[in-house]
Amino acid sequence: MTESAVDVWTSKAEAYLAQQRDLGGPELYGLALALPALGLRGPAPSPAGGRLEAFRIEIGDCRKCGLAASRTHLVFGAGNPDARLMIVGEAPGEEEDRRGEPFVGEAGRLLDRILNAVGFDREEVYIANVLKCRPPRNRDPLPEETALCLPYLEGQIDRIQPRLILALGRFAAQSLLSCADPLSRLRGAVQERNGVPVIATYHPAALLRNPEWKRPTWEDVQRLRKLYDERVGDKPAWNPSA
Ligand code: SF4
Repeated sequence: MTESAVDVWTSKAEAYLAQQRDLGGPELYGLALALPALGLRGPAPSPAGGRLEAFRIEIGDCRKCGLAASRTHLVFGAGNPDARLMIVGEAPGEEEDRRGEPFVGEAGRLLDRILNAVGFDREEVYIANVLKCRPPRNRDPLPEETALCLPYLEGQIDRIQPRLILALGRFAAQSLLSCADPLSRLRGAVQERNGVPVIATYHPAALLRNPEWKRPTWEDVQRLRKLYDERVGDKPAWNPSA
């Protein structure tokens, strides 16, 4: 087989095996991850990427809470496993559940614009939700669902080791900070989770319903970018008025 034929074959095999993973076949997904090791695909993921992929396999077709019954896809997370900035939302919405990816609906497009406004691309950050499965009709997550699913987000944070976290909305902020404070008290200052700074702001879906919250959100993300420059400092100078 020529090299390009191998590439085509492995692409098709990976797509099929990833589909099997989503349909509940984590063992087959494991085979997909083994393709690079077999020399059929390169390059291998980074150490953090490998740890994250292994964790995804470990979670498999989780059915620990009742949300498994109504979901279409378990939405694990997406983005750069070596990200310095991690973004955490509440739970998948309708479009995310259908496509198996976080923040791909209208709120996701607004999130992209917010990130772009302070010099970040979606590809360089990692995005995940507290809950991996969609609550029916987007109702609020139940405490027992949160208790069962939160360890997955904690596992992702442990593997990615972000230098900064942006929490979108009250539920994400409270879950990350283990508190019950209202968002009005959590945003506007830098919070901390196990030594990692957390900036809380409004969820993009809430911004779509309440455009008057765009100004405070802009202030929050400017604070995020300033803190990123202080803590990480790997981006070109940023001029908010440019
Ligand atoms: S919401 Fe979390 S705990 Fe519940 S089934 Fe989905 S992955 Fe499992």
